[in-house]
Amino acid sequence: MPELPEVEAHARRVRRWTAGRSWVGVRVVDPTAVRPGMSTRPSEGGVSPGVWSGPCGGVLRVAKRVGLRAGPTGGALVHLGMTGHLSRVLGGDVPRFGRFAWQLDDGSAIWLVDARRFGCVVPVDDVASAIVAGLGPDADAFADGTSLAARFRGCRGPIKPALLDQARVGGLGNIHAGEALWRVGVHPRRPVPEVPEAAWDALAAGLPGWLEAAVLNEGPDHDGDLRYVSEGGANPFFVYDREGQPCPRCAAPIQREVIGGRGSWWCPACQPAPCGSAAVR
Ligand SMILES: [Zn+2]
Repeated sequence: MPELPEVEAHARRVRRWTAGRSWVGVRVVDPTAVRPGMSTRPSEGGVSPGVWSGPCGGVLRVAKRVGLRAGPTGGALVHLGMTGHLSRVLGGDVPRFGRFAWQLDDGSAIWLVDARRFGCVVPVDDVASAIVAGLGPDADAFADGTSLAARFRGCRGPIKPALLDQARVGGLGNIHAGEALWRVGVHPRRPVPEVPEAAWDALAAGLPGWLEAAVLNEGPDHDGDLRYVSEGGANPFFVYDREGQPCPRCAAPIQREVIGGRGSWWCPACQPAPCGSAAVR
């Protein structure tokens, strides 16, 4: 599932493809891809895709959302869901699993390609305000550990599911939350109040560089399709999906648990389990 780095890689590519160009229309292959809200189901009456003509007004990215502008304020939010991609297609062909396309004045089109159809296009009147609605600050936007920890005040549960709560911090998903916790030596099941101050400091200091490295690893300067690890792409991660393999730091075998309903990978030596907790497999 695309997280902040994968979505940012898509946004940078779309920014490059649309620079200096104008929209000339849209192509709606799957009307259910156009939705009235980010987390809503397709509406039965359908939603107007909005007006797409004139200069491309810019490409925004906040958390896991992309915003495409048409005109001074309006446009659309795009959520890539589980498997969505933004792909550039030259000419009029509809790519496999192409749901919706924005057409450009150079004859190209930017397609929402989405095999599993969890992605969506949400027309909005004000991209800049809609793209941040309901979200905490991006995970790479904290000046220090104190301000990051403050976003989790009142949370008593395990740290990993808390990191996935987009209302607290935006952009982290199952993979990058797990990787970050391995880097700072915190077990994913450790209760939030027991996360040491030094670990919050390390997260706040490290996340910008870790996430940017992941963006660059996705090839934002290339035009070919990105391939997520969940789609069979290479696994560049330290612990994600590496149960039984040696920890890159200490060589202990990586373990896996389901925490908060999500598969979680961790090193039993680098990330000691919280006291009194039992592993749930
Ligand atoms: Zn280790």
